[in-house]
Amino acid sequence: MKYVVCVPDGCADEPCDELGGRTPLEVAVTPNLDALAGRGTVGRAAVIPDGLPPGSDVGNMAILGYDPAEFHTGRAPIEAAALGLRLAPGEVAFRCNLVRVGGDGTMEDFAGGHPTTEDAAEVIRALDAELGGDGIAFHPGVQYRHVMVAPADLADADCVPPHDLTGKPAVGPSGAAAARLAEIMEASRPIVSGSGLDANQVWLWGQGHQPSMPDFTTRHGVTAGLVTAVDLVRGLGVLTGIEVHDLATATGWYDTDYAGKRNLALSTLADGADLFVIHVEATDEAGHAGDVAEKVRALENWDTEILGPLVEGLDAMGRWRLLLLPDHATPLALRTHTSDPVPYLLVDSLTPGAGGTYTESGVADAAVVPGHSLMGELLSVG
Ligand SMILES: [Zn+2]
Repeated sequence: MKYVVCVPDGCADEPCDELGGRTPLEVAVTPNLDALAGRGTVGRAAVIPDGLPPGSDVGNMAILGYDPAEFHTGRAPIEAAALGLRLAPGEVAFRCNLVRVGGDGTMEDFAGGHPTTEDAAEVIRALDAELGGDGIAFHPGVQYRHVMVAPADLADADCVPPHDLTGKPAVGPSGAAAARLAEIMEASRPIVSGSGLDANQVWLWGQGHQPSMPDFTTRHGVTAGLVTAVDLVRGLGVLTGIEVHDLATATGWYDTDYAGKRNLALSTLADGADLFVIHVEATDEAGHAGDVAEKVRALENWDTEILGPLVEGLDAMGRWRLLLLPDHATPLALRTHTSDPVPYLLVDSLTPGAGGTYTESGVADAAVVPGHSLMGELLSVG
């Protein structure tokens, strides 16, 4: 038996005016997806548990079968894992953005002008040299996204994600550790603003301690691999022992290598892995950009480049089961994530399901199941 999990990040949506009141899933021409839905089971899943933010960290954790209410400690520790960092007890990780805050205190750019990874690393190393020590260390990540490790008492603060502050007053942390965090961000200003980047300080948020997630293979009795361009998903692989496969042509953007991801899935399964997770970010990026055409095109790319040939390849290997769902909705009209339940699709190559339509309206009447229960559902077959 082979298992595939397909994650079109943020693909669920709401009816759009530009699409005549329909959603991208309803408009996209997806004959392969339609055929799978016709022979499988569709339903609605709560991938974001109540009380947790609708982030890709939370939703993808649920898709991998781990209840975020139990295992999620913060976003930064997952990204730290992707960088190969393991937090000791008594340590926490913060996400450390390079940002630009205007003279009037407005968050002008949460991405600090999108520096290159190399240029940013130089600045992060300078920050570590100047401000590191006493348990504080700065670790370079990718582009504007970095990690600060700190003593656990610094975690006692509410920190606002900088992308939620764009164009608004850059509201600093609140809570017991707020003053010390503000001090670090302030102390970063001369170092970052003197660096030649468009950024002028760091922004600390998303903190948490090392999550203790049981090994995926021990938990489920199957070996697994994944492919993604997103650090959060890589980090979840590291934390759960799911092998993270590199694909140089995976960009995290509209132009990503759909066929390369599908071929990697098929070759890894042919080499003996039991389960493979294909994550594609493009649908989410289109949602954030409010780009209706790109979101529809990303779904059509899934259909022609991944699902069609994937099913052919799987059929040649024997019996298989497939689970498809996004980690949250990213409605085009809102340009940000929501916590609404998302449609899921479960297909068994041998046993037909009730059949249905894989759209938001197609599952509107279905009972909502917890997102983290679906991995068990996928793997529960004799
Ligand atoms: Zn996401």
